[in-house]
Amino acid sequence: MLELDQALENILASIPAPKAETVSLADSSRRVAAKDVAASTDLPPFDNSAVDGYAVRSRDITTASAQNPVSLRLAGKIAAGDYFQGELAAGQCIRIFTGSPVPRGADAVVMQEDTKADDSHPDEVLFHDSAKPWENIRFHGEDVKRGATVIRRGEMLGAAQIGLLAACGVARVNVSGRPSVALLATGSELKETDDASSLAPGQIHESNRAALAPLIRAAGGIAKIVPIVPDNAEATRSALARALAECDLVVTCGGVSVGEMDFVKSAFEELGGNLDFWKVAIKPGRPFVFGRRGEKFLFGLPGNPVSAFVTMLLLVRPALLRWQGAASISLPISLGTLAEPFSNPDNRRHFIRVSMDASGQVRSAGAQASHMLSSLASANGLLDVPPKTTLAQGKIVQVLCWE
Ligand code: AMP
Ligand code: MG
Repeated sequence: MLELDQALENILASIPAPKAETVSLADSSRRVAAKDVAASTDLPPFDNSAVDGYAVRSRDITTASAQNPVSLRLAGKIAAGDYFQGELAAGQCIRIFTGSPVPRGADAVVMQEDTKADDSHPDEVLFHDSAKPWENIRFHGEDVKRGATVIRRGEMLGAAQIGLLAACGVARVNVSGRPSVALLATGSELKETDDASSLAPGQIHESNRAALAPLIRAAGGIAKIVPIVPDNAEATRSALARALAECDLVVTCGGVSVGEMDFVKSAFEELGGNLDFWKVAIKPGRPFVFGRRGEKFLFGLPGNPVSAFVTMLLLVRPALLRWQGAASISLPISLGTLAEPFSNPDNRRHFIRVSMDASGQVRSAGAQASHMLSSLASANGLLDVPPKTTLAQGKIVQVLCWE
């Protein structure tokens, strides 16, 4: 039985280097950047107005106040997308809108609310307030300087990163290839959940593929759902053979315990695969198997739904991210405070389903048996309790979360 850290190290050491491909920005969500991306333009690209109002020379209105408004001659209008060719002269102002380029000669924009246009003198604007130099001007390059690195290699692209790339004019982006993952459930008791007919005696609805596919996708993998495989050597071997041929990784669930109906390990070996390790010192999730056949990988997850879910998060997710060259492969962490003590009398790490409330108080999410999905559904994280350890109430802990 391997320690979790050792098991993960073995897995990560065998994952091949990422391969790069170019995709359009529209297809880049949750992809990992394969290269640094530099800004090809300043952001903003030009000095522009932060408000709707009037561009002025601030020194022209230093004396302006509500009692003593200063009048400037209206020399033009710059709508968003327009560009003023000339230069603002002394005593002039120009009507300007949020985002419009600031004309040459102007060094401030006065908000419309601090001015008054007089209908009887359409060429004049009254200023009720002075302006500090550079007031209400957004400077070119103040957000991003041309040439600056806006995305680092290994960064996963989310909504904000994609927005930044779009603003920088990047239409296509170099990203790492995604692993295709066959998701295969074994067990003669399992029934497809998309079938309306009721369960026969002894049957249960298959749930692992449904729960694991979103986790695979969230980690950038392409999940390919394989039909349920009954517990027999031949069916397991042929399903595994096809999955290995079609996908980079095969994630199986069930059939890796010591029961006489557990066929996954032997089928994989018969197909020329080598088992790297079997069993990891964690609860839930001990009967986990990892194997390799050339550039193809087997992740044999235990069948119990929570064991499958937890081992997916702890051992498969990091492999999927490493495959894509992601810089960060560990689970997101939230800090919380234990509202109750947690004891682990066992000699393997426990990953307890916990729920953390808005004030950061961490409690058990319910019954912890590995077949019980309701406590997993009400949990928002896992608490790692080391072997032979009690974590006291009030202790500040890191809760492992998932997307
Ligand atoms: P196994 O690892 O095959 O011995 O399965 C352990 C337990 O998990 C058994 O109670 C199985 O019925 C259950 N189980 C296995 N695979 C699934 C699955 N895909 N969906 C729901 N339950 C499962
Ligand atoms: Mg089974």
